[in-house]
Parts: sequence; C-alpha cells; structure tokens
Amino acid sequence: MNHLSASTPPRRSRLALATLQSLGLSLALTLGGAALPLGSAQAAASQQKVQAPGWYRLMVGAAEVTALSDGTVDLPVDQLLHAPKGKVSSGLKKHYLAAPLETSVNGFLINTGSRLILVDAGAGSLFGPTLGRLAAQIVAAGYQPEQVDDIVITHMHPDHVGGLVADGKRVFPNATVHADQADKDFWLSKAHLDAAPAANKGFFQGAMASLNPYDEAGKLKTFSGNGEVLPGLRTHATHGHTPGHNVYVLESEGKRLVLIGDLIHVASVQLESPEVTIGFDSDAGQARKERLRLFKQLASDGSLVAVSHFPFPGVGRLRASGKGFAWVPLNYSSQVK
Ligand SMILES: [Zn+2]
Ligand SMILES: [Zn+2]
Repeated sequence: MNHLSASTPPRRSRLALATLQSLGLSLALTLGGAALPLGSAQAAASQQKVQAPGWYRLMVGAAEVTALSDGTVDLPVDQLLHAPKGKVSSGLKKHYLAAPLETSVNGFLINTGSRLILVDAGAGSLFGPTLGRLAAQIVAAGYQPEQVDDIVITHMHPDHVGGLVADGKRVFPNATVHADQADKDFWLSKAHLDAAPAANKGFFQGAMASLNPYDEAGKLKTFSGNGEVLPGLRTHATHGHTPGHNVYVLESEGKRLVLIGDLIHVASVQLESPEVTIGFDSDAGQARKERLRLFKQLASDGSLVAVSHFPFPGVGRLRASGKGFAWVPLNYSSQVK
C-alpha cells in the first residue's frame, strides 16, 4: 500500500500551509483565477532524472584539487569479495545497501599553480556505458584535456587508464603519463597477454590499447621505488592490487592529500573488515598487507585521503574503529578554500 497515492494532500504540504497561514501569507497558488492546492503545480513538471556535473573542488595548501566523477558501475561485490559467508551481505545491509553495488569511479585533477596533473583517467569505453565521463567533467569543471601536463596512474586496470584514449587517439595530447615500471612490465607485455587465461586477457588488452599510444609518442615515463614524481607529488609503492600499484602523496604548504587508488573498493565491508580482499587483486595477500599498513598510518596522522571507488567525491579521512576503520567524509563546502 503506497500512502503517497492517497487522495488527501501530503502531510508536508498541509504543515507548510499551516506555517504560511500563521505568517499571514497567501495560501494558494492561482492559475487563471482558480485556486490550486499547494503541490499540484509541482506534480505537473516532468522529473529531470539527471545529476549535476560530477566535479567537486577543494584546496590542499596552494594546490587546487578537483575530484572528477567518471560515473558509476554496478559491481557484484557479493561475488568479488573474498569473505566468509554472510560478512558481505551483513556489511552491505548495515549501510542500507545490496549487491550489485553501484560503485563510483573517481579521478582527481590537481592544479599546482604551475602544472595541471591528472591522477587516473577513468574507464573510457572499456567498462560499459555508465562510465567514461571523466573528460567531459574536466571541461565542465573549467579545463580542457589539452591543458593537462601530466597524468599519474595508480595502476593499469581498465577503470583507471581506459580514459587515456578515445578511438585509439590520445585524449590528453600534451600530457606525459607516469606509471610504475612494474605495472608496465606486467600489463604491457605480450608474453603475459599470451600466457593469461582467456577471462583475463581483456585486462592486458585494455592496458595496451590505453598506454601504447602514449608510449609510441614518447609520452610514457616509468618510475621505480618511492620518490618525487613531479614537484609536490610523491609516489609511494603499495604493490599487491597490481604488481605496480602506487599511491600518490600531494603536499603543499604543510597540507597533505593521499590519493590511494584501489587500496580499497567496498567501504561498507572492507573498512570494518580490512582483511577482506577482492577478486581484482593480483596478489591478494600483499594487497591486504599494504591496505592495513597504510590505513593504520593514515588513521593515526589524520591525512586527507582521496579514494577511487568510494562514493563520489571520495574525499575524507580514516579513523581507527574496533578492529578496522571508519570513514569520515569531507564536510561539504560551497566555497573553494
Ligand atoms: Zn584496480
Ligand atoms: Zn579500480
């Protein structure tokens, strides 16, 4: 029984009416001289069913950071997560969620004042029609893809590199892509592609299609070990999710943002139970170890954290909670400060 279908006016409208009456204000909307009950005019307007452009901006010291939504994708997390029976469904249920879980894919654009740096490029055409919006969000946020100087890649999975190309062409023609040598050696290797089981070949092909055009243009640079990849931006190796997965640490004027890529996927399950791994991990044990190590550090130093797959914009802080962690989303601000 749907109480909204009852013919009496909704309670909220009657309350609003009473409030207006008490203020001595006009109580009914009029159209052609006929009095209409409050609410009728709204009901006639068609529902718009689209979201606002997906970008959100904040300052980290003197660096301007724009979170970009590539879209969302429904993930069968009940099949993907490696957890004892019931743990995934109870975690989801506690958060009023269910599988398949609508999962954000976020990228981040950093304007240091002298360079425009993109952290991950979204899925492009590699992950279905609900993703691939990152380049459009860059434009909606006031920039052009041609202005991007550098792109740092957390790892070479398709939802992080697919947006580098469109129709085989570089979407960011003036950008140099930076990635860990270990991911290049793994994902761009024909020998590994040939040896991979049929179900996994797409990951290699996606990485090759996305990165080879930059490599061929001399625009792919690799690094090994931790260090400053660009002024104000450090790499921190967290291998495991892929052989060359990295997090990036942005520092400016004493402020810090740690962009952690795929160190975690499902907030509602893996925060409370950070030992739970996901089927996308190349080395699940190592991925778990790196998640625990870094999360402990982030929870103790209170760093601002940006996450690829937490609900957009995916920026907040971690704190210790029980045997795991809790997420404290960044408070919304209408100003960029
Ligand atoms: Zn991944
Ligand atoms: Zn991912």
